[in-house]
Amino acid sequence: MNVINPATEEVITSVKEDNLASIEFKYDLLRKGQEQWNLVPLKERIAVLQRFADLLKENLEQNATILTSEVGKPLQQSRNEINGARNRIKWLTENAEKYLADDIMNIDKGLTEKIVYEPLGIICNISAWNYPYLVGVNVFVPALLAGNAVMYKPSEFSTLTGLEIEKLLKKAGVPDNVFQVAVGAADVGEILLHLPFNGYFFTGSYKTGKHIHEKVAHKMVPCQLELGGKDPLYIADDVADIKNVAAGTADGAFYNSGQSCCAVERIYVNEKVYDAYVDEFVKEVKGFKLGIPSEEGVYIGPLTRRPQLEFVENQVKEAVAKGATLAAGGKRVTGKGYFFEPTVLLDVTHDMSVMREESFGPVIGIMKVKDDAEAIKLMQDTEYGLTAGVYSASKERAEKILGKINAGTGYWNCCDRVSAALPWSGRKHSGLGSTLSHIGLRAFTQPKAYHLKG
Ligand code: NAD
Repeated sequence: MNVINPATEEVITSVKEDNLASIEFKYDLLRKGQEQWNLVPLKERIAVLQRFADLLKENLEQNATILTSEVGKPLQQSRNEINGARNRIKWLTENAEKYLADDIMNIDKGLTEKIVYEPLGIICNISAWNYPYLVGVNVFVPALLAGNAVMYKPSEFSTLTGLEIEKLLKKAGVPDNVFQVAVGAADVGEILLHLPFNGYFFTGSYKTGKHIHEKVAHKMVPCQLELGGKDPLYIADDVADIKNVAAGTADGAFYNSGQSCCAVERIYVNEKVYDAYVDEFVKEVKGFKLGIPSEEGVYIGPLTRRPQLEFVENQVKEAVAKGATLAAGGKRVTGKGYFFEPTVLLDVTHDMSVMREESFGPVIGIMKVKDDAEAIKLMQDTEYGLTAGVYSASKERAEKILGKINAGTGYWNCCDRVSAALPWSGRKHSGLGSTLSHIGLRAFTQPKAYHLKG
């Protein structure tokens, strides 16, 4: 399998893909290793994963460069991602004892009732390319902490990073028969669906997530899905500093070239501040530096996958054909690399794909609304439910609006952020189950109830 640099279209290297025999071999290794790993005291497992975080720091520049070369993310954003992953590991390891220890629920007249959080066993993690460190860490760190063995399938677009993760985990002390990497694309993913894993944890598109969910349903094991979004923002009429709000929300829409599951994908602006907001927003977007992502200072790199160029281009063409106005960008950049100009569309409607289908690229639609009620109606008009945000001077007003939106995360005066202390979950087509927080630590366990008399 060739690994392509999306900024230059050059082949970086090629890697050997797995097949049925090699995957079965890896699976058997994990089956043997998991019981031993579960016997390792939790404190030691925590220490191993903290060493992994230290190694991420020591190898920051090298791994950021590898990440940028294969996914096209600007170098500083690759560094940010790896540092973000270290922060998540810090929270997860510092809280593992608290949430994975046995819970004594009752002691009464010689009867003790307690919950023991047993690991699921061998879990399968099929992962995405857009934040391979972050979405990987969400799964394999709590899974390993809880005593599971992990088969990790990085996306075929971030294989080199997946192999680096494996190298550093092993160096940190994760035994070879506790963590294995499945190298390949959809066909390798399919092989994993046929093996008897004790849980499936998927990050990726709704289409693949639905397929996996249906395929493994008969196994009666947990299947968690972190899928796409069409995340809305509402800018209310009482926002104070329009320039700052425009800068923050443009970053929320265009960071990582819009290839974030929780990227701002559509914006509704109260008519009283619409002109001022759009003015500042467009100025901000026109100031973004597009270029080769390994060069310092570049903010917009290429898209990671070539087909996404065409998808985004079609969304823009369709919107314009239906009456949208281009306020910035709008087309591919000629020459090598999968570059698309950062694009702002005005006069959009919900009849356009750009306001309904996840763009996953540097494109945003902005729509004028007359009041909060209209904003809520439009924000709710989606099959997705990952995040939603409100910018307003009033926390009460924002919480009232967010309370009416069927999404896993609500933001007031911020957007496009994830916290290790809070559950990360999607609703409707955005997913099932939660990672991160105490809920995400326990997602890799099965509770056993003990009634102990005597
Ligand atoms: P994708 O669905 O194309 O692929 C995800 C993974 O599934 C890859 O490893 C791929 O090889 C594998 N796969 C594909 N077909 C398969 C099959 N038939 N059987 C088994 N495995 C299969 O998604 P992607 O392009 O890698 O990621 C982008 C999507 O992920 C976007 O929709 C984005 O919003 C979403 N995402 C969500 C979150 C979240 O936390 N909610 C985080 C990151 C990305």
